[in-house]
Amino acid sequence: MTVRLPLALAGRQGGALAGRQGDPRPGLSGVGGEALEAWLREHGEPAYRARQLQAAVWDGTTRAATEVTTLPRALATSVDEAFRWSTVDDAEIVQADGGETEKALHRLGDGLTVESVLMHYPARPGQRARHTLCISSQAGCAVGCPFCATGELGFERDLGTAEILDQVRSAQARLAKQEDGARLTNIVFMGMGEPLLNLDRVLEAVEALNDPAKLGLGARHITVSTSGVVPGIRRLTALGPQFTLAVSLHAARDALRDVLVPLNRRWPVAEVVAAAREHARATGRRISYEVTMIGGVNDTDVDAEALAALLRGDLAHVNLIPMNAVAHTPWQASPMPVIERFAGHLKAAGIPVTIRRNRGQEIGAACGQLAAQRAGEPAAPAVARRRQRLEAESARALLGERSSEPVPAGVR
Ligand code: SF4
Repeated sequence: MTVRLPLALAGRQGGALAGRQGDPRPGLSGVGGEALEAWLREHGEPAYRARQLQAAVWDGTTRAATEVTTLPRALATSVDEAFRWSTVDDAEIVQADGGETEKALHRLGDGLTVESVLMHYPARPGQRARHTLCISSQAGCAVGCPFCATGELGFERDLGTAEILDQVRSAQARLAKQEDGARLTNIVFMGMGEPLLNLDRVLEAVEALNDPAKLGLGARHITVSTSGVVPGIRRLTALGPQFTLAVSLHAARDALRDVLVPLNRRWPVAEVVAAAREHARATGRRISYEVTMIGGVNDTDVDAEALAALLRGDLAHVNLIPMNAVAHTPWQASPMPVIERFAGHLKAAGIPVTIRRNRGQEIGAACGQLAAQRAGEPAAPAVARRRQRLEAESARALLGERSSEPVPAGVR
């Protein structure tokens, strides 16, 4: 049977499924209220059915429209024929840190995989338990940061709105089973992909996460990260969202950032920080800067001083994160005393700083690691060439030489 869909519904899937094999039905969670009401009208149904359907999509237990007892049977069957109840299949769930970290490998309709990581933070005096979910916005990533397993995988495609939201629905359902009544408290777009290169879909997803009829999570509990897509930051500033913007900085010096975050060759660090500063001024929200600490590469006193000079006086907070051991790089995490010394430089400049602990190292919890492991090992000569190239590039960068490599293809 051919199911006719309003264009507005099909468009929200990101358009990237065209030409790929897979289930062509849109995911129900990504269909906006008005579009769903329009579809229901076409089927002779009242608008309130959209609310019934959305409530069932987000209740964490229903697995098909035909399970919704308040829907007429014929309508429920039509909904299941026209839409997918979920666009992600939990292919693998692995736990670490004594159950405090849980990584999900989600298989998409066209066979690609993306990851999400659920992190539990037990209650402490004066603070309730938190459950933070890190989600992906793209399958693969075009930015190609060399310390990141996703960057090594390369870019596959943008995720559709439903594919982003269904990672959340999957985690919320698993969480509710583990702890009766537990809810996600924070969501961070720090998984696979560069969120601001898929900004329309990310904004649609954030709107649904905020919606009290869906997840109902306050914007202040949502963080969207970027590796420095300046036009995307400016667009967000114009919209004035209340979610937190996180900027993955990793280095304050252009020569080094050209290597660690290759889109720096297109939008250099001063431009990125200027755009972020303007965002903080316009929204009144503090910018979170992330620095992955790589031993002997970006953790020197010179780097700490450069970062302190760059951010001094800004509405900013810096997170220092020891690098996760990623295969195929010549690098290791900075030792903790080095990270503490680096933090000391920032504190002396009046910049708030937190040293984060790594989660789930034994399950490859860093972005893209599990998907990369499941994709198979590259050939040994390719790994050796990559290591040599990174050693040479970072050595040149430490001498202050800007990269002559091109801007990564796909960074638009
Ligand atoms: S760190 Fe983020 S931006 Fe860089 S390659 Fe990985 S997913 Fe992409």
